Amino acid sequence: MSRFKAVRLSHFLPSLLLLCGGMAAASLNTLNEFFTSLFNVLPSLLLTLGGAFCLIYARQRELFLLLVVYLAYFLLDTQTDFYHAHGQARPDAALVFHLCSLLLPLLYGLYAAWLERTHLLRDLIARAAVLFAVGGVALALAQRYPDGLLAWLTQIRWPALHADWMSMIQLAYPVFLLAFGVLLVQYLRHPRPLHAAQLVGLLGLCWMLPKTFLLPHVLNVMSSQVMLILVAAVAHEAYQMAFRDELTGLPGRRALSERLPRLGRNYVIAMADVDHFKQFNDTHGHDVGDQVLRVVASQLRKIGGGGKAYRYGGEEFTLVFSGKTLEECRPHLEAVRQAIEAYSVQLRDKGSRPQNDRRGRQKRAGAAASSVSVTVSIGVAEKESDQRTPEEVIKAADQALYAAKGAGRNCVMVHGQNRRGAVRVATTGE
Ligand code: GH3
Ligand code: MG
Ligand code: MG
Repeated sequence: MSRFKAVRLSHFLPSLLLLCGGMAAASLNTLNEFFTSLFNVLPSLLLTLGGAFCLIYARQRELFLLLVVYLAYFLLDTQTDFYHAHGQARPDAALVFHLCSLLLPLLYGLYAAWLERTHLLRDLIARAAVLFAVGGVALALAQRYPDGLLAWLTQIRWPALHADWMSMIQLAYPVFLLAFGVLLVQYLRHPRPLHAAQLVGLLGLCWMLPKTFLLPHVLNVMSSQVMLILVAAVAHEAYQMAFRDELTGLPGRRALSERLPRLGRNYVIAMADVDHFKQFNDTHGHDVGDQVLRVVASQLRKIGGGGKAYRYGGEEFTLVFSGKTLEECRPHLEAVRQAIEAYSVQLRDKGSRPQNDRRGRQKRAGAAASSVSVTVSIGVAEKESDQRTPEEVIKAADQALYAAKGAGRNCVMVHGQNRRGAVRVATTGE
């Protein structure tokens, strides 16, 4: 269930925009000189730049996807160039086209679903070997038995299913469907931008192939767009890795550092820290600790009043309220503290299994039935005229947090309300 919750429209949005843009441009019969030249060089450019990027950062899967799309583009482009120049297809056009419409979804689906699990070089060699083997066999058959191969490809195997709109060979449809199904399952199991992009890219190829000889720019435009979709997804994931905390899904420290200088004149910063977390980890195990951090993060994410939560590091979180006053934020901080206190975390206690012995099993049995709750202490500070940087406000919030710990934890403390330091604003017993 939680995986389905991770399905996001934002995973698909950039790819869908590129796909729709590509479809619109490809449907035009004439493109101006600039775009014609652009789409003529884009596939090669994307293969070179995107391929180099993937190679440097060990993204073999995307490298081979780019390569497969480019190879199909290259083979078909030779055919369409001849067709547009001479007004008739080359003698081998049908064979090349049908082979591409069969092998492109096959290899695309295979590489897209083939996870990088082994040693980098071994993985590269294995992928290259598959490409050479499939390409080599296809080339050998096409040269040795062109007519037999063409007849095999174009044979109508399922007459009942045949329809006039089918402009690819029958075999291509189940292969596209199979690849689509596999990639859909892959996305649902691991929802991430790259898996969404692979799906959308496949749709783009499926839309492009039947129109290869019908629309003059479809091949260049759609091949470029599909490659762009893949490269953009790699960049999207790289950005996420840099700015998002993997465990909690909240923006991380780097994102906070980017936000701080842009906060404007008035803002409030709160630091939240899970109480007695070390003890919690020691009792229940690190995995349950991680589970708790996710729960705390999911509550903090929901903070009202225009606040935004960041994982500062470890079990500390930062809440930023831009353009707000302390009085406006205080009730929201108190509400989130109470929400965390009231939340009971069901222990799916896999990680705290210490050893596979009887005591471990007893501990698991006990823990599996139990639930725990945690509390957080929050220190909050408003930007004062004598504080010049947001870092100083964070420091003030930290001092208030320290005071909250000293005051018995599970409470919100405000910095600098009187001379003695932080003042306790609200508290409930631990
Ligand atoms: P206090 O109430 O004073 O905040 O006490 P505390 O135990 O929460 O504070 P302390 O800083 O001593 O311990 C923080 C612990 O958080 C230590 C570390 O093992 C744990 N921790 C930090 N990051 C992670 C994480 O990503 N996952 C898990 N499970 N534990 C983490
Ligand atoms: Mg701490
Ligand atoms: Mg703590």
